[in-house]
Amino acid sequence: MRVCVLASGSKGNSTFIEGENTRILIDAGLNKTELETRLKIIGIDPNSIDSIIITHEHNDHIKGLGTFARAHGCKIFAHPDTWAAMQDKVGVLNTEKRIGIYGNDFYINELAIHPFDVSHDAAHCLGYCVMDGTKKISYATDLGFINDTIIKNLAESSLVILEANHDIPRLMNNPRYPIYLKNRILSKRGHLNNKDSAEAVLKMLGYGIRGLIAAHLSEENNTPELVLQALNETVARNGGELAKEIYVDIAKQHSVGNIYRIKS
Ligand SMILES: [Zn+2]
Ligand SMILES: [Zn+2]
Repeated sequence: MRVCVLASGSKGNSTFIEGENTRILIDAGLNKTELETRLKIIGIDPNSIDSIIITHEHNDHIKGLGTFARAHGCKIFAHPDTWAAMQDKVGVLNTEKRIGIYGNDFYINELAIHPFDVSHDAAHCLGYCVMDGTKKISYATDLGFINDTIIKNLAESSLVILEANHDIPRLMNNPRYPIYLKNRILSKRGHLNNKDSAEAVLKMLGYGIRGLIAAHLSEENNTPELVLQALNETVARNGGELAKEIYVDIAKQHSVGNIYRIKS
């Protein structure tokens, strides 16, 4: 499998995943032109995208969804509550392109998709595991908290894309953020902070994950350095050394991320 985070953060999210014969996106939160441009940067013809699987209806995840899917004939998979919530924003689609996710695993050609629930202030919010034979990539952003149920879904992934949204002190001290917004972000239906994200990664090291892309970083309330610091400190506290345990990357908002080829 190949994977590339095309964009990540509150201004737009989309991740490209490729199996042996199938190309999909998780979310389409950039406008159609920007999404096409970023796919072309990594050498992918937008017309070759088979399907788009949607986490939730917030604009940073579906901004270009309707226009991109119509232009390139993509199927869209989303939870029924997400379909209801994003109907007006997505516009008209052929019925056969609109597919509901009812909680069960499903296939897009050879790719097996395992959806799992996460807590966020959306109609419904899903994380995903995408599997191709023995290889597994997991994706979880926009979650107010993480627990053992979610961590077990991410276990044994070759690559985990996990939210590390904010540094709590930096968010609390941000004078540009009103208190209601701080409370929203910090709530159980908000976004995952660096500390909780790092604790989850520490647990996942015991579950055999190989690589991590920290994602959905707040541009105001986080930095890649703070994410790495939280990860390093958490792993070191447990007697480990992050760089020896796992490969770590940070997803970017304004440019295409690295392309990873997952071999096992
Ligand atoms: Zn988001
Ligand atoms: Zn969201």
